[in-house]
Amino acid sequence: MRIFDPHIHMYARTTDDYEAMALAGIEAVIDPSFWLGSARHYAGTFYDYFEHLLGYENERAAMYNISHHCTLSVNPREANDLALANEVLERLPEYLSRPRCVAIGEIGFDRQTEAEEEIFRKQARLGRDRDLLLLVHTPHQYKRLGVERTLKILAEEGVEQRRVLIDHNTEETMPLFAGTEYWVGLTVYPVTKLSPERAVNIARQYGLERLIVNSSADWGPSDVLSVPKVAHLMLKTGFSRVEVERLVWENPIRFYSQSPNFAVPVGAEHLAASRRPSLLEGVREGVR
Ligand SMILES: [Zn+2]
Repeated sequence: MRIFDPHIHMYARTTDDYEAMALAGIEAVIDPSFWLGSARHYAGTFYDYFEHLLGYENERAAMYNISHHCTLSVNPREANDLALANEVLERLPEYLSRPRCVAIGEIGFDRQTEAEEEIFRKQARLGRDRDLLLLVHTPHQYKRLGVERTLKILAEEGVEQRRVLIDHNTEETMPLFAGTEYWVGLTVYPVTKLSPERAVNIARQYGLERLIVNSSADWGPSDVLSVPKVAHLMLKTGFSRVEVERLVWENPIRFYSQSPNFAVPVGAEHLAASRRPSLLEGVREGVR
């Protein structure tokens, strides 16, 4: 079975993790830019970090035959240093057009402050105006309120729902997506997020349409094998292989294929039908 982990912070992981992931069948990852564990004080450290995700991390993954793309942004937590966040945003667009950058993310709310809302709105507009995908983080505390506020802002900014992945959902936020076209992420992460059992129960209750599962593994106590564990549990509890592969492989490809910077894995070209012809034309011309 082919497996994709569409949210994992490989920047914070070792090469041993890459090896374990490759052995467990993970062939592709998305590595979103995030908070590094301590506050940054200079815009230049963000730019160096973006270069690292676009370059070195991609090469490191390739050594294990893992396809690597990243998403870039000012993350919600660091949005609270407004002067710094605005300075970083000045040059963010240069990085967003680079090959292997497939979305703006993670953006959204952490503590749900006014500063976070300002930087979230600016990046949502940037995505809307440049036709880029958005990867949206949702807060750990007051999650349902945070998701409701997130959906209201995205609607006000006129962002196209099917081009947004809203991540870290739980049983209490799933009903908010009824009747929408948003892609909905579930994070299987020890202690603070979902267990494999809870994720599989949500998949059973809400179905697999536009559902995405990830590990969000980082420097915290987390598990780079969360996605294979979900796949294994699904098979054990009655899902077919076709259904499991749809969740852990096809769905992230369908979502990220909307980005012209996404290199569709070999053998998955049929999943990329939703690509926009106009954008693809631009890419082909760029190659010529
Ligand atoms: Zn994350």
